[in-house]
Amino acid sequence: MSKQQAPNTTGIGTADLQWHSDETPYSPRFDDIYYAPTHGAEESTHVFLEGINAPACWQQRPHYTLAETGFGTGLNFLLTLDLWLATAPAHGRLHYIAVEAYPMDQAALARAHAPFAWLAPHSAALVQAWPPAVAGFHQRSLAQGRVTLTLLFGPAASMLAQLSATVDGWYLDGFAPSRNPEMWSDTLFAQLSRLSRLGTRLASFTVAGTVKRGLRAQGFTLHKAPGFGQKRECLRGVLENPLPHKPNIPPWYAPPQRSEPVSSVAIIGAGIAGAACAYACRRAGLQVTLFERHAQPGAEASGNPSGLFSPRLTAGVSLDGRFHAAAYFHALDLYAQLAQHTPEIYHPGRGLLQMAESEADVQRLQQALFHSAWPPQHAQWWDAATASQQLGTPLPRGGLWHAQAGALNPSVLCAALLADVTAHYQTEIVRLAPQPEGWTLHTAQRHYGTFDAVVIAAGATAPLLYPEAEIPNTAVQGQLSILPAANPLNQHALVFGGYLTPPYQDEQGQLCQVLGSTYRPWDDLSDCSWSECQPEAHQLVWQQLNETLPQLGQQWLGPARQGRAALRAAMKDHFPLFGPLINPSAYRTNYATLYQGKRVSLAKPAVYIDGLYLIGGLGSRGLLTAPLFGACMAALLSGGPLPLEADLWCAVHPARLLVRSLKKPPL
Ligand SMILES: Cc1cc2nc3c(=O)[nH]c(=O)nc-3n(C[C@H](O)[C@H](O)[C@H](O)COP(=O)(O)OP(=O)(O)OC[C@H]3O[C@@H](n4cnc5c(N)ncnc54)[C@H](O)[C@@H]3O)c2cc1C
Repeated sequence: MSKQQAPNTTGIGTADLQWHSDETPYSPRFDDIYYAPTHGAEESTHVFLEGINAPACWQQRPHYTLAETGFGTGLNFLLTLDLWLATAPAHGRLHYIAVEAYPMDQAALARAHAPFAWLAPHSAALVQAWPPAVAGFHQRSLAQGRVTLTLLFGPAASMLAQLSATVDGWYLDGFAPSRNPEMWSDTLFAQLSRLSRLGTRLASFTVAGTVKRGLRAQGFTLHKAPGFGQKRECLRGVLENPLPHKPNIPPWYAPPQRSEPVSSVAIIGAGIAGAACAYACRRAGLQVTLFERHAQPGAEASGNPSGLFSPRLTAGVSLDGRFHAAAYFHALDLYAQLAQHTPEIYHPGRGLLQMAESEADVQRLQQALFHSAWPPQHAQWWDAATASQQLGTPLPRGGLWHAQAGALNPSVLCAALLADVTAHYQTEIVRLAPQPEGWTLHTAQRHYGTFDAVVIAAGATAPLLYPEAEIPNTAVQGQLSILPAANPLNQHALVFGGYLTPPYQDEQGQLCQVLGSTYRPWDDLSDCSWSECQPEAHQLVWQQLNETLPQLGQQWLGPARQGRAALRAAMKDHFPLFGPLINPSAYRTNYATLYQGKRVSLAKPAVYIDGLYLIGGLGSRGLLTAPLFGACMAALLSGGPLPLEADLWCAVHPARLLVRSLKKPPL
């Protein structure tokens, strides 16, 4: 992108990189170099790592959170990772957060790391995990889960305003204040201070007066240290006088503050929500025990023989679009990693076409593509001719082609995520009981625990597990048809209003395709007939296929006789449910006058049911959203940075429907 071009609609651009003859990476946009290959590593070590007193700083603090403005080539990250792995306590965790408004691509990163041969293994891991240049938060887990890298792609001050974390050390890097004055603003300094604690250190290459004044005004005590090489000085500082800051989340959604860290967690449910949560919590070092009423994982909604993993782009930059983008790229990274060891989960790169359902839908999808500004390897437009040719079947309209999306095997996926987790199958939890030292979980015969925390990941029937929490999801039954494979769609998946998967092999070795699916509200959770397939439902999906794509439909003689039905957990506002469970009666009392527009600063803090959490309401998109929620839960319980922007946290918060109702005047 040239200097004159506006950033794309999601607010970020890509790095416009040039390379000098000695391989120095240079940014024409900022007229500055990223580092000097001859001494870049030594300079970074002196200014930044020594500036925060590494490695002593993390030897005293086994969970260390470091944040950087201006990730650039990632050299500071690689050097930090290298030193941390060599010197941190064995049970330690490093959380590295970095903001970048103009991310490089993978090839540029690899080239920029080439002069530092001893960092090659870390560089390879970073390049492989590197997300596309899509605005928002991207968290990646490295070094067998001991390190999280949370990349905030977007302008520094606004991205940090969305962050929930407590930072122990800051690297204030990025292009010089004279070349990039927008970044070094008072708003940025206020965010640095909000995210710091008493004693947080900072290090910077710049000693510019505006930077020093801005940091001092936020309570940092600063001193100059000798600079590297020919540079006279660099900056070091400590937060000694923290100021009160307006929180970035209203009190009724504020994340819970725990006095003791969580070490043991019980998870109820071995569907995709519970499995993704267990996987992430284990990697975060928590002691995980999972309970499932069936004999194996993925036995209810997450047990379909084939399910679609498909992104959701929206026309315009919206909460919905941003949330689903974050979820998609998180899931893609996890599934690609798992598929390396368990290829039957997912075949990266087979792709999915979301066909426009009408001419109006063509406009909507094209607008969504424009606003999302996703790179073409993740989303592009195929016209009807291209789409028909690529899928090997005539299609009336084109649509969005997602080359990395496609069909998954959900129960194999759940089993892979749970491979190393202590799990009790055929164990139905009938009651949860809070105890002074944690929670006990009760079956009809015995009890388990105590556990510091419990995560309910029980799908549509979650509200039955702890009625006091008033979990607000409803249940919607869905049925899909299983057809003998007749049109392989060139191994692509097709969404056309309904959906058709590419062929998969069933347990008898037959090639089948899934045609989905129906939606039927299911009000009575005590009625367990939801798993029974109905011929009318097979007829319904069959009819939809034949009305939309008659030539494709003709390849089968009639509706399926085989299928599968399950309950989805649905929400009125179509957002999932994630977070700490609330005490609804305390909310009704404490926020009774919310409709009067009471000042946020005067409101009481949220009252939660201590130690009880939920991942639910995943609707028709559990395969898309569960991995991100798994990582969010691991962060919430272990005290790491939340990989979810503050406004998205509020949008999925379990209290939101109640809060919205309290904001309306009583009738
Ligand atoms: C027909 C159909 C087609 C679908 N197609 C897709 C698709 O293509 N792509 C997609 O992303 N999503 C799809 N979905 C939605 C997707 O299946 C769900 O979003 C997802 O499976 C929800 O996962 P979960 O873990 O929340 O719930 P579940 O998979 O239902 O898991 C909950 C688990 O909790 C266990 N449990 C409940 N109560 C207890 C208890 N008291 N004690 C012990 N264990 C308990 C249950 O046995 C169950 O195993 C489809 C859903 C249906 C019904």
